[in-house]
Amino acid sequence: MGILLAIPIVQFGLPAITGSDMPELPYYLMLSAAALAGATALFYSWSSCYDRRLLVCLGIGLGLWATGMGIAIANSDAQQNLISTYVCFVSYGFPLLYAAVATRDEPTTASRRVVDGALLVMLVMLCYLGVRDLQDGQGFLKSEYVPWVALAFDTENILLFAAYLIRTLAATDEREHRSFGVVTIHLGIYALTAAVHNHVDEVTGSEVFNAIADTFPTLCFTLLIILLRANREPRAFQPLPRVWARRLAASFAPGLLLTAIFAFSVGIRGSHGLLGRIMLALAMLAYVIRVVQTQFWFAATRDRLADALATVERLSLLDELTGIPNRRAFERTLDERLRESVRDGKPISALMIDVDRFKIFNDTRGHVEGDTALKSVARLLAGTLRRPADFIARYGGEEFVVLLPHTDEEGAKVVARRMNRSVYDSMLEFDDGIDRRVTVSIGIATTDVLGGIDLIKRADEALYLAKADGRNGYAAGERVMAASDCRSSQACRPSCTP
Ligand code: GH3
Ligand code: MG
Ligand code: MG
Repeated sequence: MGILLAIPIVQFGLPAITGSDMPELPYYLMLSAAALAGATALFYSWSSCYDRRLLVCLGIGLGLWATGMGIAIANSDAQQNLISTYVCFVSYGFPLLYAAVATRDEPTTASRRVVDGALLVMLVMLCYLGVRDLQDGQGFLKSEYVPWVALAFDTENILLFAAYLIRTLAATDEREHRSFGVVTIHLGIYALTAAVHNHVDEVTGSEVFNAIADTFPTLCFTLLIILLRANREPRAFQPLPRVWARRLAASFAPGLLLTAIFAFSVGIRGSHGLLGRIMLALAMLAYVIRVVQTQFWFAATRDRLADALATVERLSLLDELTGIPNRRAFERTLDERLRESVRDGKPISALMIDVDRFKIFNDTRGHVEGDTALKSVARLLAGTLRRPADFIARYGGEEFVVLLPHTDEEGAKVVARRMNRSVYDSMLEFDDGIDRRVTVSIGIATTDVLGGIDLIKRADEALYLAKADGRNGYAAGERVMAASDCRSSQACRPSCTP
């Protein structure tokens, strides 16, 4: 606050103390404040406390502003300003415009930076050519154009402020939000102070107001230095779900540059000859290259995202432990298969499979071996399925579910027998298991005229029957079918073979 107060004190106090008019003092103060603010921005761009690109752009912009003021001071014996001063002041906004349009949705390759750099240089050239005709014989802006130029500054300042406000609202991380927030405040104050400074003369014509307005730009740049210093530490940030702001920021980015080219091309006339046309053509060419780069980058990003999405989707449908489809995949498939079976007028069977006494297996052998056994069971069960439409999934824990489209109860029993046999024959060692091996029990349910209502529930109920009957067997509906026939006797094995 002290520094802000010091500015009017110096500006009005120094001439009073020295007893001279010092008409250039406000301009020197503006120049120093802009240069110092630019240096501060560049200084912080080296550290990691702010968005680097934004602060570099801010530093360059303020450097151009200070250059403009330097040219103005060098010619301050004249009442008007040179055209080059205005070109510098307008160009202050170009790097800032670039930082505003460089969103995350834009490529950040070196070639892109080269194209953007070239485009910015061309915009400055177009700006110069556009305002060249507004100068008199000595290179000063003709007085009749002064209000229009002031209006153009207001438009540029308001547009920049709006673009930065949207970028701040759209920010997704703390540093971006803080960096754009600080510059948005600066641009808002700058738009106000510049408007007052540029219009106060036309509105009031008062010398006193003019002198007061001359402190505004200095105060604005000093405030920027204070803001940059005060906000350099990260703070708590909760990104808000402002999807509209994010979409707006991403969509206005390419349009703003084109608007700038268009706005400056309006000033190009026949009097500019070949140079004007070449500049315009080059600016358009740079823009076209930019569009091609963006499209290329979007296409590559889209392909990468599509691949990533396909992988995520595939992984989200697989059981992590056993590698076979998971419960989510099952729910999805069940619906499809039931609808198909109703449409085709064919039965569909479901098998609910549960590993026998598996809790004891875990308790005695440990979970790591339990997991290995589960993987083996999953592989064995999946290996018994022959038709492409047959589907197996891990239902949860040590339970599996199988869907057999176009298969009636008899067919399902064949598969169930095969599964019992496959697990039993694999001789997965388990001291407390039936015949000292890992076995499974299976419940079968088949759709009837009512369709697939309660298919899984019925298979689960049948599973309990198979368990109750002594495990290592299968059951269908209320009948325990050949359950446990394969339990131990060698003799029954052939009868279990499908
Ligand atoms: P039953 O013959 O009646 O099915 O007896 P059970 O012990 O198999 O049945 P219960 O439902 O009581 O126990 C299931 C056990 O399966 C509990 C847990 O120890 C084990 N289990 C479930 N999921 C996993 C898993 O992902 N890994 C391992 N290692 N064990 C699991
Ligand atoms: Mg179980
Ligand atoms: Mg079990």
